Amino acid sequence: MPREGGGLPSGAGERYRDPRLAQKMLERVRSLARKAAERLGRQPAIMEVCGTHTVALSRTGLRAALGDLVELKSGPGCPVCVTDQAELDAMLALARLPQVAVATFGDLIRVPGSFSTLEKERARGAEVLVFYSPADAVTWAKEHPDREVVFLGVGFETTAPAVAASLELAEQLGVPNFYLYSAHKLIPPVMRVLVSEARSRIDAFLLPGHVSTIIGHRAFDFLAREYGLPAAATGFEPLDLLLGLEAVLEQLADGHAEVVNRYPRVVREEGNRRALSLLERYFEPTGASWRGIGRVEGSGLSLRPEFAGRDAARRFPVEVPEPRVPAGCRCGELLRGSIRPPECPLFARRCRPEHPVGPCMVSSEGACAAYYLYEG
Ligand code: SF4
Ligand code: SF4
Repeated sequence: MPREGGGLPSGAGERYRDPRLAQKMLERVRSLARKAAERLGRQPAIMEVCGTHTVALSRTGLRAALGDLVELKSGPGCPVCVTDQAELDAMLALARLPQVAVATFGDLIRVPGSFSTLEKERARGAEVLVFYSPADAVTWAKEHPDREVVFLGVGFETTAPAVAASLELAEQLGVPNFYLYSAHKLIPPVMRVLVSEARSRIDAFLLPGHVSTIIGHRAFDFLAREYGLPAAATGFEPLDLLLGLEAVLEQLADGHAEVVNRYPRVVREEGNRRALSLLERYFEPTGASWRGIGRVEGSGLSLRPEFAGRDAARRFPVEVPEPRVPAGCRCGELLRGSIRPPECPLFARRCRPEHPVGPCMVSSEGACAAYYLYEG
């Protein structure tokens, strides 16, 4: 998936990687973790919602360095991983339509649907195009007026504005053969479901940095207000992660809860107005199904009625058989924070990045891939 929102002033990234500062901060975080554990009477469980945080916590060694004191749980923050099996099957069915070319981001093409993958469909002759930006798919559609181009829109609040911008571009350029299959998902509603469930124990959140850039950190205030959970918006460098952990552990140690911004060089209170207005213009909230979590009202985005003509689900209705999740795959439990990757019996045995059984081993933001690559 493309990642947005970097926006570091030059040199800032390096500052946030300073090993001496990081060591100092790590000691402070460890000491706060002990205090939090004392107060809670057990190890604090902190969920990182974003796939890039999952990877960064593994790659920097922080998950291992804190493993004896903090339970760092990966959440539903990889857009490819949370795409529901039935949605994947619908995408495969679209790819099989002779007049349709499907366009998507790289990771998605290797994710196993119930009976195939987009990569296999491509080998069988389907037109499956991989683009880094949805705008490139519009250009391709303009150059190939004889094809019906369906963009497979997966991703959260981060990616959806770029997809909305591609619809705007298609309108402006008058490209009638560009459509969207929207499997976009919204993060706050699914977090609500996770925290309301008794079975997922979460004491605090590291908020997704890029999603927070778009919707603003205030959009997560409900976590502290309604559920008494501390949360911190944070970035992706080692010191960013430590600052976020420090913020939530401090709160757990002294027993209060608020949503704080530890990524002010990128995240603003109210988010990014232009991105939000693009979202508002093209989409409206709808129910969406998440892998392992099920249907969550208001957590998806469908095209507004004015743009129904660009809605691939209406233009090319496809029938899909009952979805089949790969036998033994526990991605669903992983995405709700109930297990860690090594607890899946297939992990590093039948399921590896070269032959993934589930999406969490495919995607570059997937928790299983991150553990496999960096926690070995
Ligand atoms: S905030 Fe969202 S889009 Fe950005 S890296 Fe994390 S999961 Fe990916
Ligand atoms: S190890 Fe493979 S099969 Fe198991 S949860 Fe992860 S992706 Fe799914």
